[in-house]
Amino acid sequence: MTRTLGSGSLVIATHNAGKLKEISALLDPYGMKCISAGSLGLPEPPETGKTFAENALIKARASAEASGLAALADDSGLSVDALDGRPGVYTADWAEKQWFEGEPGRDWYMAMGKVEGLLQQVGPDAARGAAFHCVLAIAWPDGEHAIYKGSCPGTLTWPPRGKLGFGYDPVFVPQGDQQTFAEINPAKKHAISHRADAFAKLVADQFGG
Ligand code: IMP
Repeated sequence: MTRTLGSGSLVIATHNAGKLKEISALLDPYGMKCISAGSLGLPEPPETGKTFAENALIKARASAEASGLAALADDSGLSVDALDGRPGVYTADWAEKQWFEGEPGRDWYMAMGKVEGLLQQVGPDAARGAAFHCVLAIAWPDGEHAIYKGSCPGTLTWPPRGKLGFGYDPVFVPQGDQQTFAEINPAKKHAISHRADAFAKLVADQFGG
């Protein structure tokens, strides 16, 4: 049986204010007080895992051990069928600009173009199936943990369409839709996303629905 959180404080293993806000809003109805790892000054461990689950657990464990509290981390990304699941855990890295490209930062158009270029190399008839994945890991200071996996299947389109969302949203069309994640109403995206799927599983297991 999975260990449950009960109510109380939970460290969210992120330094991203947007992620903290989104996760706090989801867990607030269950009496959880979310504190970010950033606000506690906890270090960000290197994400050396080969899977989303390994990386989520590395982050959750680092925060749980350093704070002495239960900690929650997420790891997410895009897996493309015809590219053997790439970019996978390297989804954000594919957008990393090189030093010779000027200001450091992420270029999502470049990252989407890299995926498309590799698909074209596979061939004009390459399968365009892909899925966003999100893995949530809860770690307790004594080493126990729980993992929840969510996904959102779809297909890749080119050229990118839409101005909403972030990351690879403009090239991802969720299954059963015509519009990309960057074109559809954000409320609808949040209802069908890989993150929603993973959180629904966490809430059902930890708080009984
Ligand atoms: P991380 O989970 O913060 O390591 O981020 C992984 C990367 O996956 C993000 O930087 C995005 O590029 C990509 N990603 C994750 N979820 C989404 C999504 O809902 N839409 C578009 N891109 C996403």
